[in-house]
Amino acid sequence: MRYERIKAKSLLSKPIAADGWFHINRSMNAYRGCEHGCVYCDGMSESYHVDDFLTHIRIKENAAEVLRRELKKAGFTSRRELETETLWSFLDEEDTKRLAMKSPRKQVIGVCGGVSDGYQPAEKEHEITRQVLETLLDFEMPVFVLTKSDLVLRDIDLLKKIHEVAFANVLFTITLVDDKVQKIFEPRASTTSERYKALKKVRKEDLFGGVMATPIIPGLGDTYENMSGLAKEAKRAGAQFILWGGMTLKSGCQKMHFLNVVRKRFPEKLELLEGIYRKNHPYGHPDYNKLPVNIMLRGYEICKDVGISDRTIRHRLPNEPEANNQVLGALLDIVFRQTYLLGMSWNKSTPFRELALRIEKGIDDLNKMREEGDLAERLMIDSQLLTSVEEILDTGSCQVLDDIHIRLDELVSRNNA
Ligand code: SF4
Repeated sequence: MRYERIKAKSLLSKPIAADGWFHINRSMNAYRGCEHGCVYCDGMSESYHVDDFLTHIRIKENAAEVLRRELKKAGFTSRRELETETLWSFLDEEDTKRLAMKSPRKQVIGVCGGVSDGYQPAEKEHEITRQVLETLLDFEMPVFVLTKSDLVLRDIDLLKKIHEVAFANVLFTITLVDDKVQKIFEPRASTTSERYKALKKVRKEDLFGGVMATPIIPGLGDTYENMSGLAKEAKRAGAQFILWGGMTLKSGCQKMHFLNVVRKRFPEKLELLEGIYRKNHPYGHPDYNKLPVNIMLRGYEICKDVGISDRTIRHRLPNEPEANNQVLGALLDIVFRQTYLLGMSWNKSTPFRELALRIEKGIDDLNKMREEGDLAERLMIDSQLLTSVEEILDTGSCQVLDDIHIRLDELVSRNNA
């Protein structure tokens, strides 16, 4: 393994709007390269222009510093600096509060899990992710952590403090229930059982948390036994949800490495997997007609049986009205289910997505607008969409969402017939 300390010029991604997968607004990577060495890792793809992704780890030693600069540039306020200012300029508490209020709407920062795990072994010594969390705590930003390592438990103290002022949502990527099989595909990450144990601790501390069951490897991870095992263990560990997703495999280094391992360890699956990824889709998508099962639909069915949600929860941002969070969560749920579970075209969900984008930008309390009688005008929506919004405000769901569930249940029973 080769380690190199580097200076990053920038850190945060461009803002992400109305993200129905993780509900994050920005993401970042404290490292470039990842020593977890997952056989299917997307980071190996030539499209990222990072050589030796699994063996050459670039450590962004100034990550926290760059993050601080970028957050300030975006108009966010550092609690520590504000307090120092108060001390020197004799601002009273009200002034301090007013200044804090002037900060823009908070953003959920995806701390790791972009393309490099922030809790890979190098983090033990370098503590870059820890410094990043310290900075985010200072800015009172909500955080989203996605990892394959139980090293995240080292930072539980910081995560708890962040959870008190904003929130901390900790997800573990877990795709194979059997430790032995998992070790073949994710050789240097924590084992599946270690990750479930860590998740249990995270949930015991009352932090938000769940499982990201992605990528499910076709022909290996998509069996009923593996997927239901993952869901049951997630529930046992107190996960709030388990989110399913398939595997992409881009032609070149990523595909070659993956198929070589399959050839050696699971030769009986080689023909199936070669066939599924033969078309070399530019984003590595499989040939959906050749997949043994529809992973999303199977995941939906299993979650219903096990009694756990198959969707990430949208958590309320600090100072965000609960009604807005509720409507936003339901709208993004409609978009996600129509697109990824029912396979409907992107255009079908446009009205829901556009409204979600408008709400996410930060608008007044939807319940207040409703009371004032001008919800439709202010949201610029037609009567049909208004009905859905009002239903969500009253019950947390709406007819459109209920119909989606009916269609999904029908599809599941047709598949099982
Ligand atoms: S943990 Fe993620 S980034 Fe790291 S090797 Fe595995 S797939 Fe790649």
